[in-house]
Amino acid sequence: MPRRPTANRAARRLPVPLGLPLSLILSLSLTLAAPAAAQVPTPRQHFGFDIGEHRKLATWSRLTAYYETLARASDRVKLDTLGLATKGQPFVMLTITSPENHARLDELHAIQMKLSDPRTVSGPAELDRLLDEGKTVVLITHNIHSTEVGGAQVAARLAYRLASSDDPGIREILDDVILLQVPSLNPDGTQWVTEWYNEHVGTAYEGTSPPWLYHYYVGHDNNRDWYAFTQVETRLTVEKAHNAWHPQIVHDIHQMGGSGARIFFPPYIDPIERNVDPAIVAGVNQLGSWMAAALTAQGREGVVINAIYDGFTPARAYQHYHGGVRILSETASARLATPIDVPKERVRGGREYEASERSWKFPLPWEGGEWGLPDIVDYMEAGALALLTNAARNRRYWLENFHAINRRAVEKWPAWPEAWVIPAGQENGAGLEYVLRILTLGDVEVHRATSSFRAAGRTFPAGSYVVPMRQPYASFAQTMLEKQEYPDLREYPGGPPKRPYDVTAHTLPLLMDVVAVPVARWEGRAPRLSGPVPVQDFAFELPAALQGDGAPRIAYYKGWREPMEGGWTRWVFDRHGLAYDTVKDARIRGGDLRRDYDVLLIQSQDAESILEGHEPGSLPPEYTGGIGREGADAIERFVRDGGRLVVVEEATDFAIELFGLGIRNAVEELPSRDFYVPGSILRVDLDRGHPLARGLDERIAAWYWRSSRAFEVDEPGARVVARYAADGLELSGWFLGSERLAGRPALVEVPVDKGSVVLFGFQPNYRAQTVATWPLLWNALAGAGARVSD
Ligand SMILES: [Zn+2]
Repeated sequence: MPRRPTANRAARRLPVPLGLPLSLILSLSLTLAAPAAAQVPTPRQHFGFDIGEHRKLATWSRLTAYYETLARASDRVKLDTLGLATKGQPFVMLTITSPENHARLDELHAIQMKLSDPRTVSGPAELDRLLDEGKTVVLITHNIHSTEVGGAQVAARLAYRLASSDDPGIREILDDVILLQVPSLNPDGTQWVTEWYNEHVGTAYEGTSPPWLYHYYVGHDNNRDWYAFTQVETRLTVEKAHNAWHPQIVHDIHQMGGSGARIFFPPYIDPIERNVDPAIVAGVNQLGSWMAAALTAQGREGVVINAIYDGFTPARAYQHYHGGVRILSETASARLATPIDVPKERVRGGREYEASERSWKFPLPWEGGEWGLPDIVDYMEAGALALLTNAARNRRYWLENFHAINRRAVEKWPAWPEAWVIPAGQENGAGLEYVLRILTLGDVEVHRATSSFRAAGRTFPAGSYVVPMRQPYASFAQTMLEKQEYPDLREYPGGPPKRPYDVTAHTLPLLMDVVAVPVARWEGRAPRLSGPVPVQDFAFELPAALQGDGAPRIAYYKGWREPMEGGWTRWVFDRHGLAYDTVKDARIRGGDLRRDYDVLLIQSQDAESILEGHEPGSLPPEYTGGIGREGADAIERFVRDGGRLVVVEEATDFAIELFGLGIRNAVEELPSRDFYVPGSILRVDLDRGHPLARGLDERIAAWYWRSSRAFEVDEPGARVVARYAADGLELSGWFLGSERLAGRPALVEVPVDKGSVVLFGFQPNYRAQTVATWPLLWNALAGAGARVSD
C-alpha cells in the first residue's frame, strides 16, 4: 500500500498554539524530541528497525532480550521475571525510576504500603511525612490483547526513552514516579501474533490474525479475569504488581476498531459500579481528560473521551476496588502492522459520539486517511507520557487521594454491612474454596471465628469465615458478594436498552453455589476471630464417574473458529484433570467417531462457523473450512449409533438443524426493548428425576447472556431437564422482559435412535465461574454411552 501524506500527519506538524499550558508544551516536546542516546542501546541498534515502523514487529523473544539489555545498561531500570505464562514464555516487569529512588526502593515501598492501609499510620505527623516522601506509583500494562500489536511495541520505546533521556520532563517523571511496567500481559500471545505476522508479511495473508485463541485458554477474555483470577498471567499481575505495590494509577493500553476515533481516554460512560469510591471516579475523569487535552494540544486528531466504555464490571477493573484509578486507552487499529486507508466518507462514530461532529468530548475529529503502526505507537506513547507527567506533577494529590480512599474504606461506607459471614461446612466445597481464593487473592482480610456465634438471626458454627468490612479493600468484597442492581438505561424513554460494555452481574455466592450472609451489625459482642487466612487455592474435584482414563470417552470439538467459551471449558477440564480428546475438523470429517468416542461436546458457536469455518482465501488453506457436510453426516451417524452430542447455546442451532428437531429459540426475534438479559444470573428449576440433574438441588442459579436460548419444544420423546423459573427468576444483574423466559425449557435431552442430543440453552461454564452449573455439564459427559432417559 503506497504511503501518502494524510490529514493527521499534517496536523501533527502544527506549531504549538500560543497560550498553551506549560505542561502540554512539555508533553509535546517529550513526544517529538529525540532523546539523548547516551550508552543505552537504541531500539534500532537492538532490533534493526525503529519501534513503530510500518510492517515491523519485534517478537516477545527479541523484546525480552532488549529489556535485559536496558536493565544492564541503565541504572534507572530493573527487570524482574515474575513467572512463566501459560505456554512458558517469561512474564516480566520493569521497575523504572531515578537511580536515587532505586537506591531507597524498599523505603519507598514501605511508605506506599502504609498509605495503602491507614490503620498502620500513627497520626497526622507521620501521615504528613509519608505524603512528603512518597512517590506516585504507576503501573502500565501492555498488550493483554495480542492482536492489538502497538501495545507490546510501544513498551520498548517508552522504556528506552525513560532509561536514556535527560529531558527535564523525563527527569521529573523519574524523580516523582515509580513506574512498574508490564510490557505484555500475555507473552505467549505476543510471541504467536508477531511470529504469525512476520511469517505472512508480503504474502496474500499479510495483516491477518492467527486463527486460534491468542491466550491459550481464554483468548480476548483474558481481561475479563480481574476478579476470578483463573489464569496464571492474571494471578502473577495481581500478586506481584497490584498487591505488591497498590499503584495509585494503572494505565491499561489497548486498541479498538480502525474506522472511528483515533484514541479513547476516560471519563467512562455510565454506569459506574456503585462500590467504586467517588474519588476514584473523579480521579479517572481528571487524568483521562488531562491526557486527552495533551494529545489534542499536540494537534493529534480524533481524541475522544466519555464514549464507548463503561465502568461497571470489576472483571475489567481490579484497581477500582484497590485504591487506584484505571486509565484505559484504546487506540485505533490498522491490520496488525500493515497500514490501512480510511476514506473520509467511511469514518464512523461509535457509542455516545459522532465521528463527523465536533463536540465537547471529541473536539478535533479525524478526517480519515492512512493509519498504521507509526501512528498507533505515537499516540500510545504520547498518552503514556501525558499520564506519567500528571502522576509526577500531582504527586501529592495522588498520594493524599489514595490515602483518603483507603481511609474511607476502613471507616466503612454507610451502605455496607458490618461484616459478611461465609458459614463453615458448606455442601459445595469447591465453590467455597473458589470464593475464598478470590477474596484472599483480592487482598481482602478473611478471618475465621474461633467459636460458634449468633448474627443476622442465626447461629454460625465455629470456623465460619468472617469478612469485617472495616478494611482497605472492603469494596472488593462487597461487590463480589452482593447482588447487582443494574440501572435501567435506555436510548430514550421507553426505547431500546443501552447495552452494557460487558456483563451486568458477578455475585460470587450465586455463581459458585455458596452461602454468604451480610451482618448489618453485631448482636452484642463481635465474634472472636483468628488472624487473616492466607491466600487459598482451588479445590476442584472431578466426579467419580469421570475419573480415570477413557471411560466415558470424551471428544471436545475445536475448529479454527473456536469460541472463547470453548477455551474456558478446556481450562476447567484441565484444572479438574479430565481425560478428553480435542478433535479438529479433519477428525470429524474422517467419520467413524463412535469407534473412539461416547460423547462429543460443541461449545457455543454458530452453525455456519462449525460447518464452514474460515472462508477459503481468507487464511492459508490449512486454516480454512469447517467440518463440512461430510463432518455433519459423521456427527449424525455418531449419535444414531449411540453417541451423545452435547451442544451449548449457539451450537444448539446446529444440532436442531442437523436432526430436524422440533425445538426453537422462543426469544430469538424479540426486539431488545421487550426482552434484554445481557449477562445476568437467574434461577432455573430442575427435574430431579432426570439423570442429568442427579445430585443437584431443585432450584439452582445459572448464567444467561447474549447467546443464551429459551426453548419452545415440540419434539416427541424430548425431555425437559431444566426450566427458567416461573417465579423468582431474577437473581442478579439486568433483566428486561424476564417474563418471556419464565417457565421456558432451558436444558433439553432428545433421544435419537440409539444415542441422544443434549441442548443447553444457558451457559453452564460462564468464564470458569459457574460452579453452580458445572454438575450439569459433568452429568451430561458422564452419562454418555447410553441414552440418559433410559
Ligand atoms: Zn483490547
